[in-house]
Amino acid sequence: MRRKLIAGNWKMNELKTEGLELAQAVFDKCAGQKLPFDVLICPPMSLLGMVADLPHEVVGVGSQDVACTTKSAGAFTGDVSATMVKDLGATHTLVGHSERRTMHHETDEVVCQKALNAMNAGLTAVVCIGETEIERENGEALTVVARQIKGSVPKTATADNCVIAYEPVWAIGTGKTPTTEDVAEVHTAIRQELTSLLGEKIASQMRILYGGSVKPSNAKELLSVENVDGALIGGASLKIEDFWGIAATQL
Ligand code: PEP
Repeated sequence: MRRKLIAGNWKMNELKTEGLELAQAVFDKCAGQKLPFDVLICPPMSLLGMVADLPHEVVGVGSQDVACTTKSAGAFTGDVSATMVKDLGATHTLVGHSERRTMHHETDEVVCQKALNAMNAGLTAVVCIGETEIERENGEALTVVARQIKGSVPKTATADNCVIAYEPVWAIGTGKTPTTEDVAEVHTAIRQELTSLLGEKIASQMRILYGGSVKPSNAKELLSVENVDGALIGGASLKIEDFWGIAATQL
């Protein structure tokens, strides 16, 4: 049985005071609760250590990226290694978010190396994949995600050290979402691709999140689709009412 994961990606948002307040609000919601789902927040790197240091139970804290080099330290100005992220108290990291694939030209190979670095450092990698609008219009969505899975998911991935996030690029921050039929089709195809790559057992246990304009009003429907094991939430993770409004649809 796959437990759902409700994950927030804060992107490059929140200064110290507001960021710590938001993290505290999430921790407060989860404290002392036996929630039927897991919760993860991914603050910007500037707040990661401070957020992870706040007393909290159960909730995962993740970075939004890790360095690509296989070295855990060295002359890599501006980079933060997976080992350093783990050392700050993080449990997870996103890798291959479409904003990084697009703005930083990250290839599947780079994303795969980052995921591997994360796993080797003891973090769970949330590997993000998803087609662009043009690719969807051209009927290439399934081919693109299959290629991204093959190229970005390390062969050593397990359900404990890896989560997949399907985020159609055209749905991120746009208010547009695919139909539930389209989400079901892609998530089923992802599960099949994971089966070829990692074998039936691991593929059946691995969580596949949906991301892209999830909000309280559409969360219940999206999260009820077969093979949707949680949500990766951008904009709506910045307001506790919205983030928790989404999570509460699973209570
Ligand atoms: C994201 O960037 O991971 C995301 C899903 O953003 P939003 O929820 O704002 O579409």
